[in-house]
Amino acid sequence: MNILLIAELQDGQIRPGSLSALTFARQVALETDGSVRWLLLGENLEAATTEAARYAPVLFCDAAIFAATAADSWAAAIAEVVSTGNFDLVVAASGTFAKDVITRSAGLLGGAMASDVLGHAFVDGRLQLQRGMYAGSILATVTLLGSPQIVTIQPSAYAAAEPGETPATVTNEQIDTSRLPQNIRIEHLESKRGGRPDVTEAAVVVSGGRAIKSSEDFESLVGGLADTLHAAAGSSRVLVDAGIAPNELQVGQTGKIVAPEVYLALGISGAVQHMAGMKNSKVIVAVNNDPDAPIFEVADYGMVGDVYEVVPQLIERLG
Ligand SMILES: Cc1cc2nc3c(=O)[nH]c(=O)nc-3n(C[C@H](O)[C@H](O)[C@H](O)COP(=O)(O)OP(=O)(O)OC[C@H]3O[C@@H](n4cnc5c(N)ncnc54)[C@H](O)[C@@H]3O)c2cc1C
Repeated sequence: MNILLIAELQDGQIRPGSLSALTFARQVALETDGSVRWLLLGENLEAATTEAARYAPVLFCDAAIFAATAADSWAAAIAEVVSTGNFDLVVAASGTFAKDVITRSAGLLGGAMASDVLGHAFVDGRLQLQRGMYAGSILATVTLLGSPQIVTIQPSAYAAAEPGETPATVTNEQIDTSRLPQNIRIEHLESKRGGRPDVTEAAVVVSGGRAIKSSEDFESLVGGLADTLHAAAGSSRVLVDAGIAPNELQVGQTGKIVAPEVYLALGISGAVQHMAGMKNSKVIVAVNNDPDAPIFEVADYGMVGDVYEVVPQLIERLG
């Protein structure tokens, strides 16, 4: 397959999730005797294109219109590159960027899309994809019949790709940016995230629920244990709605879908909408003072206790 991998950049660098998506793309290219190329959109891309070329050939368009990720212009640009380059598979890391941009590209392209893919296999030469459906209640195996195929990859499902031995080619893609839609203008971007990894990209996620009473407690207990384990901090929706945890940390049906090696749920009951975002985690550890909390039904390891007593001890023992 002729594969176009859409790079997601943060502070001018390729996000780890895009490198996981590259691992998927490389495996599909190997199976199908195909090839993978990056597409980088942005402004002042020199360092990013150099970095990307360590992994795979690069197409890029460096233009002021791409300085912020306005979904309408980005989606149209991606669709144009896919069409002119005759790509038959478009790959990106799943997450907020993909929900906003890649889905719009898929709409413009037609074809068929599978999001939040957790695994894949080739059966009789056909690519089959595994993804959660119905709020994570089932793991579905799907085959995409349309063309192009558009796939977003759950970053934690694939290891980050390693660079190649020699740098690949870098090609300036000619896009007539004056013809792109410009109905969305980004006024301001705000992130409350500290130096911790994103919940979708971390191998270990520590999440807090209603048991946590304040932002300060969230930072010392959830953030403190996350830092001890070099993990991401996550949250149930209750804490986000209460303003205790920032929106971008929310795990669940209306938050982010995660599948880390280890997921620690601190004072989270295990509502179906929360489990939709984390039940594919490889190992689930729960701390809850209610022995009948539903989270214990999916937990591999459970501890009945008060998070205010247990978590400081964990931080001390593991630190
Ligand atoms: C359409 C829709 C979408 C939704 N999307 C999401 C979503 O994306 N993500 C999400 O998380 N929720 C979502 N929800 C909300 C969801 O239904 C639950 O309300 C929410 O997940 C509950 O969060 P919680 O487990 O933190 O709180 P609770 O359900 O109140 O559970 C708190 C738990 O903490 C335990 N506890 C209390 N004090 C302590 C203590 N000191 N030590 C240890 N344990 C303690 C309690 O025993 C309890 O089990 C959605 C709801 C709807 C209707």
